[in-house]
Amino acid sequence: MNFDDNIMLADDGVSTICSHCSERLGDARTNALEHALGSEQESSELGPGIRADPKLFADRKIVLRQLFCPKCLTVLATEVVPQDEGRLRGWKVFS
Ligand SMILES: [Zn+2]
Repeated sequence: MNFDDNIMLADDGVSTICSHCSERLGDARTNALEHALGSEQESSELGPGIRADPKLFADRKIVLRQLFCPKCLTVLATEVVPQDEGRLRGWKVFS
């Protein structure tokens, strides 16, 4: 089962793995991206789609957070969020 272009369910039925290199990323029941590498940068690092200074629209510092496959470094998740919010929102497949 593919969750998106980069993340799929492993044959064990519970592990999430990278679709490109098969590295284990986490547990679909608890934290599907538990083993992903994270980074946090200025939101302007996302590229030309983020043109305006976030300070014009928000009182809180806005940052770009991304998660990467720890083996092949494929980008698995991207968020532009207030810095004082917790790390990237987690997700799980099964309740
Ligand atoms: Zn990978």
